[in-house]
Amino acid sequence: MFSDLTAPAPDPLLGLMQTFRDDPSADKVDLGIGIYKDEHGNAPVLATVKQAENWLVETQGSKGYLSSAGNVDYNRLTRELILGQDKGLLARSQAIQTPGGTGALRIAGDFARRLNPGCRVFLPDPTWANHQALLTAAGLEVVRYPYYDIATATLQFDQTLEALRATRPGDLVLFHGCCHNPAGADPDPEQWAAIAEVLAQTGATPFIDLAYLGFGDGLDKDAQGIRILAARLPEMLIASSYSKNFALYRERVGALTLLAKDDVAAARAHGHLLPVVRTNYSMPPDHGAAVVAHILGDATLRAAWEADVAGMRGRINGMRAKLVAALDGRTTRDFGFLGKQRGMFALLGITPADAERLRTEHHVHITSSGRVNVAGLTDGNVGHVANAIAAVCG
Ligand code: PMP
Repeated sequence: MFSDLTAPAPDPLLGLMQTFRDDPSADKVDLGIGIYKDEHGNAPVLATVKQAENWLVETQGSKGYLSSAGNVDYNRLTRELILGQDKGLLARSQAIQTPGGTGALRIAGDFARRLNPGCRVFLPDPTWANHQALLTAAGLEVVRYPYYDIATATLQFDQTLEALRATRPGDLVLFHGCCHNPAGADPDPEQWAAIAEVLAQTGATPFIDLAYLGFGDGLDKDAQGIRILAARLPEMLIASSYSKNFALYRERVGALTLLAKDDVAAARAHGHLLPVVRTNYSMPPDHGAAVVAHILGDATLRAAWEADVAGMRGRINGMRAKLVAALDGRTTRDFGFLGKQRGMFALLGITPADAERLRTEHHVHITSSGRVNVAGLTDGNVGHVANAIAAVCG
């Protein structure tokens, strides 16, 4: 069965991690893999998470099965965090706990295909590299829509709307809820409202990937686009992740939230979601979600976590400003857009060959697409990174 297999193509991002480890330079900087790092370049466990983990060890009385939907409190708290306190919206929503945001995306894809075997999913161009592979694996037909122009660092908003006019009922249209990966540029509230109008006309369903809530302008502000769509449209799917904003990456903590036209339709749709989970991994892992539910449900821990998120956001936006300042006047390209964009990622708009030069000549490791993880910058390395970019971009 296995003897005739050829060597598989390596995963580019995992390959990047290895190349970084193998780089002997003392000046090496990792701006590749999408992990938030603090001002010392570390990705520590949050203090609130440690506290909640201790509480869990002390109080957990059983490891018995829960259900395919996972932790009930976690699911409610997640819906409230994303949708806000609007009772009408909450009543027509349901959520299930999933293994990370990736698990939520895959369950949503499988679910959509079950409901509509000819389902198409519209993906922004560019988008997170795994979207296309993951949703193709779920059996959906992938269509790309223009989203962001790398050369001018702006949204191609007119082209986006034009492309979305070709959607139809039963299609999914994927948007990044905030902090677009890799573009760093999101629609503003007026643009979200215009998107909602187009989808209201075509009948397609928005499918939101929310992996960076709180990293842009704040927990509520970052959910604004979703809430604008939710207020205007009858249905929506939201695949969310706590990997980044709780730094729980390896614990696999995510959720799939659905919005239906009313509470009865939402409960029914939820019932159809459960067999999709049951025939896949049966039930999500408990630990990370129990930790998140404890923190979100406890006023003191929650306030401390919100302060942590504000700290991470402030550091990311601060490093953006420092990189812009360090590059000012040193390159033919104006990198001012980096300071206006949001989230962990930005596209430098350089060629794969220049990305390679950053690595081989300057030990600055980024993806060949020219994407940098801004959260990998520190006061100690931002000058070196700016020098490297200036040398390569001229
Ligand atoms: N969506 C986007 C846009 C992401 O950047 C990521 C993580 N890199 C994910 C989803 C997946 O998150 P998780 O690790 O929770 O599966």
